[in-house]
Amino acid sequence: MSSILLSVDLEDVRDWVKDGVRYREGVPENTRSYLDQFKRWGVRATFFVVGEVARRYPRLIGEIVGAGHELACHGDVHLQLDKLTPKEFRADMRRNLAALENTGGKGIEGFRAPTFSLTAQTAWAHEVLAELGFAYSSSVLPAGNPLYGWPEFGRSARKVAGGLWELPVTLHEVPGLSVPIAGGVYFRVLPFFLTKWAIGKSLGKGRPVVTYFHPYDVDTKQERFMHPDLGGKNHLNMLMYIGRAKVLKRLDILHRSYIFQAYGDYVKNLQSHGVPILHNEISGQAKECC
Ligand SMILES: [Zn+2]
Repeated sequence: MSSILLSVDLEDVRDWVKDGVRYREGVPENTRSYLDQFKRWGVRATFFVVGEVARRYPRLIGEIVGAGHELACHGDVHLQLDKLTPKEFRADMRRNLAALENTGGKGIEGFRAPTFSLTAQTAWAHEVLAELGFAYSSSVLPAGNPLYGWPEFGRSARKVAGGLWELPVTLHEVPGLSVPIAGGVYFRVLPFFLTKWAIGKSLGKGRPVVTYFHPYDVDTKQERFMHPDLGGKNHLNMLMYIGRAKVLKRLDILHRSYIFQAYGDYVKNLQSHGVPILHNEISGQAKECC
């Protein structure tokens, strides 16, 4: 049995909307909803943080660090990799790292590409990350996708350039439904029995479940506006608002059956043992081994 890798991609959706600043600020309150829940469960999670969000909310980042969670990078201004050259990406990562280190982050070793934009065309990013000392990336959507995808990568975690681990996002197992299981719109909108079934299948194959929750996924008070990357389509935008009140409840149900773990802890075990040892860093108790 493997674990569910618990993560929040810490970004402010208002940054990608025209005049977004006129909308209500949601990041601190929604992030604290996750922090409260993680504290109740006694689990350690990974927060993939956008650099400009860390600069805007240094106290919030300090709270995340103070609660014992892992900080990791999510791009300095959330630019997808195909919009950057390797040189620009290196500079972007250095700014992202500095933003996290200035708010209390230490030993940062993880990265998630904005919008899972690491594909065969931008695989050079793995080399840049290894050169900068990163231990892992969780940036590949291993299927065809209208935005980004790398179907040939395969669904299992594996070592890539420079000894870096890539942990691809977990997909559904239903033929023709190659969409991520555990995060964003799919976690909120698809029937939960289907999600639970797919999670069980993935864990049964010894693969961790790679999640990707956001502050807006639990924001039930957010004003209506058109979200980015939806081509202005109202029916897709409507999905962005559905099921937000269910996210923490569904995670709570999963927590009763499965082990949640931070990415860095999972990767450390992979590096030292080759197989995951499931250990919760905050409670300090090894729950299960395999
Ligand atoms: Zn993101």
